[in-house]
Amino acid sequence: MNTNKKLPLVKRFNDDNFKFFSLGGLGEVGKNMYIFEIGDEIIIIDSGILFPDSSFGIDYLIPDYTYLKENEDKILGLFITHGHEDHIGGIPYLLKNVKVPKVYANGLAIGLINNKLKEFPNLKIDLNEFNDNSVYKFKNFEVSFFRTNHSIPDSFGIALLTKYGYVLHTGDFKFDFTPLGKQSDYYKLTQYSKKGVKLLLSDSTNSQITTFAPSEKDISMSIRNIFSQIQGRIIIATFASNVYRVQQIIEASVTHGRKIIIFGRSMEKTIRVGQQLGYITAPKGTFITAKEFPHLPPEKITILSTGSQGEPLAALSRIANGTHRQIKIIPGDTIVFSSSAIPGNQESINNTINKLFRAGAEVIVNSPLTDTHTSGHASADELKLMLVLTQPEYFVPVHGEFAMQRTHIDIAIRTGVDKDKCFALENGQVLTLNHKEGIVKSRVQAGTVYIDSNRSIIDGTIIKERKLLAEDGMLTAIFTVKDRKQIAAPGIVSRGFIYMKNSEELVSNIQKKAKETLDRYLKTHKVPNFTSVKGFISNELSNYIYELTERKPIIIPIIMQIE
Ligand SMILES: [Zn+2]
Ligand SMILES: [Zn+2]
Repeated sequence: MNTNKKLPLVKRFNDDNFKFFSLGGLGEVGKNMYIFEIGDEIIIIDSGILFPDSSFGIDYLIPDYTYLKENEDKILGLFITHGHEDHIGGIPYLLKNVKVPKVYANGLAIGLINNKLKEFPNLKIDLNEFNDNSVYKFKNFEVSFFRTNHSIPDSFGIALLTKYGYVLHTGDFKFDFTPLGKQSDYYKLTQYSKKGVKLLLSDSTNSQITTFAPSEKDISMSIRNIFSQIQGRIIIATFASNVYRVQQIIEASVTHGRKIIIFGRSMEKTIRVGQQLGYITAPKGTFITAKEFPHLPPEKITILSTGSQGEPLAALSRIANGTHRQIKIIPGDTIVFSSSAIPGNQESINNTINKLFRAGAEVIVNSPLTDTHTSGHASADELKLMLVLTQPEYFVPVHGEFAMQRTHIDIAIRTGVDKDKCFALENGQVLTLNHKEGIVKSRVQAGTVYIDSNRSIIDGTIIKERKLLAEDGMLTAIFTVKDRKQIAAPGIVSRGFIYMKNSEELVSNIQKKAKETLDRYLKTHKVPNFTSVKGFISNELSNYIYELTERKPIIIPIIMQIE
């Protein structure tokens, strides 16, 4: 349903209908940002970032905030569901660009936001802590919260009471009847449905997984079992964002008399903030430094590391490559991967695993510790439970790629939601609701903004060029012209396209084609226009090279005029 182009673009709404749209988070897992608007009031839920698949010099992606900038007078506040980067990572960039009077968050998310803002000392933020029972009343919205279970403590769904009924946003959630933290607020969900849920927005990440996610209490048991069977050092690679998993590993280590050393910046940060706020607890002396650990026997050491996805710069990859300054693999080491591969990462993970085996280590990839449910998102049956508890009239699947959204809609229809009242929206598409109808008839500006490691914005065209350069390389053709005649054969230089020394025939063909192309141009154009001649040569050469090689390097013609 790629209707984005055909829908009219709206810069500002002037009506009293309820409107919902997303500036990020639909058709993708990341940069979540959901907007709710009635009249002159806007509520924002979450402000996240997306980590790119391949870097090209980009650190991460954020949504295009243009719509919010142009309507900032309407913004009541930003409400945060939980402390994961795909929900809070964009806050500094949002606050830098758009006036947001208040930000609301709870518990660990508050700690992580404060920690993040330390790197942006000039930013002003009015950060408020909500709790389970908070209610914020505005003219068109009454905001309340329902606790959920997820892979990080203090995860909430948000309920907006409007004149059209309740609008519920689940945030990231799963159902765990024996969680490590507090229980989901099942009672509140049923209360909302009693009063009438007009619209449900629900997490789609694991809609294509059919089995109920295992309970965190069961996972704790499995981790202890694994620890009781391993003799040497245990190196565990996991996501720093899974705070429960990190705490479970710490507890198992303490039980088995192991000290813990942490490798990886994001892991250090999570543990520091988690400890300050009491989410991560360990007896004094549990954590040791790189200096202390060589003096301990292997069976007394647990190493907690980032890099479970084979990320080239993460600690585990450096350990596998033998380039980590503080630790080398020794026979008897056991490496446990505690999160399953995110699609697309399998190859780099396999690479890391092979290197670890070669260095003499044991590697455990599939164990009960393996978080096959990526990080605590509801699977199909849990999504059904959410739908059955809330009984929404309208339904929009959020937080997921298009296929996940579609599967989630099938699930909703099976639980009884009218299929004409389910919408697989794209970022920017606006669902308008009132007492009579719910329709998608407009869109707002939505897109992607690229941020590099210096925290500056990079233009999308530059990213496209970098991709092309990385995939097909570049080729320069240098022409020497005197009195409208070429006085030498064009020089051909390439980088990242072909190895010139082994491709003499190809290079000479390209050279001939280049010469012939410029000659043709000079014959037909009395007054040469150098912009048009360059475009003409690029085009002709590009097509020719594609025919020969099926590749499209960036072509840069240079014309030197000799007087
Ligand atoms: Zn999350
Ligand atoms: Zn998320």
